[in-house]
Amino acid sequence: MKKARAKRGQTSSKTQVPRHEVDNKNKPAAGPPSHSSSGVGGMTRVDSKTEEPSAGRLRELIRYVETRQPAMVQSIRRMVEMESPSHHKKSVDLLGERLAQAFREINGDVQFHRAANFGAHLQVDFAADSKRPPVLLLGHFDTVWDLGTLASMPFREVDGRLWGPGVLDMKSGIAQMIFAIEALRTTGGKLPRPVTVLLVTDEEVGSESSRPITEAVAKKCGAVLVVEPSYGLEGALKTARKGVGDYTLKVKGRAAHAGLDFEKGASAILELSKQLVEIAKFTDLKQGITVNAGVVRGGTRANVIPDEAESEIDLRIAAAGQAKILDRKFRALKPFDTRCQLEISGGINRPPLERTEKVVGLFRTAQKIAAEIGWNLGEASVGGGSDGNFTAGLGIPTLDGLGAVGEGAHARNESVLISELVRRTALLARLIEEV
Ligand SMILES: [Zn+2]
Repeated sequence: MKKARAKRGQTSSKTQVPRHEVDNKNKPAAGPPSHSSSGVGGMTRVDSKTEEPSAGRLRELIRYVETRQPAMVQSIRRMVEMESPSHHKKSVDLLGERLAQAFREINGDVQFHRAANFGAHLQVDFAADSKRPPVLLLGHFDTVWDLGTLASMPFREVDGRLWGPGVLDMKSGIAQMIFAIEALRTTGGKLPRPVTVLLVTDEEVGSESSRPITEAVAKKCGAVLVVEPSYGLEGALKTARKGVGDYTLKVKGRAAHAGLDFEKGASAILELSKQLVEIAKFTDLKQGITVNAGVVRGGTRANVIPDEAESEIDLRIAAAGQAKILDRKFRALKPFDTRCQLEISGGINRPPLERTEKVVGLFRTAQKIAAEIGWNLGEASVGGGSDGNFTAGLGIPTLDGLGAVGEGAHARNESVLISELVRRTALLARLIEEV
């Protein structure tokens, strides 16, 4: 997040970068810093034997980002140390201002989309001398961690990793965006095409307020690169994500004294229990459908037949067509005890990100770029949703999981591998050029 400008006057013998002005807003020209003495060599795994001749551009970007690795770590640290739980508007807005500043420093045109109950969503547009449609870099800066988490889980750099709340999901990904754009501007003299960055503030709680913005912005873009964490320590990209639904089942029964009037009562808890057994049958692992009743509530005292009970149910689907079928099943539930009433609410809130040809096409491009340096990039299909589900659902080519490599998202061991930051940032930059 710190000012991201290369020092002037340094030259590189190998990169042969044009040294013209990098922008049109009265900023000084940025020449490429020397790559030879960065002191971070060996941070990227490159196999020279399998290297393709076209690897030059990726290598050039890697060399540049290597020189910026310390600044990148600093930037991630600053972000992690500004806690930003989805529901704490004030602290999320503070981080939003800091991010806006960082993007302005690399010449982004910043605008905020205000939201009543969440921090303002941040959109940054980068213009370019190109008729190509913009690429959307998509992410979020809210986290699942409450204010004060830093006290027991401070930012630290240990064992080749960065640790702390939100470091993987997805503050390192935001740093990748900033430094990928900087790398393109510095090594190429300008951006190869327009780029839009959209960072929302309610992704961890369902993206209700940001979804229309994400969809409207994505519709203007040729491709969407989602900089959410990659999958596993291998850093696989995500070419399929499940769709997500939330349902609440409320049961109304009849209250009665459990001893005096047992037969007059209709237990809402008993009815709910039977319904949950039925609902569990909706799970079809082969089809990628899972149902989980994660919360139950009901009753008042042991000696009262309960007249109210409810459950919150999480649904995951693999294909868009399954949404209607499952929704019908939920709404077709009938009470076992006809004295009870069922009330079902909710629905699918994220469509699945399906592994369509458009998605696979983007993945192949990424794979080909990586292969140029002998980097074998894999793909994964995951159960969790992201905002990429919305853009893929609109038919816009979307590639997810381009962010950091690490583990422990939403867990106390949340961490990212420092050694992967550089080449993943360079890959992101190359994708902006290529897709
Ligand atoms: Zn995330």
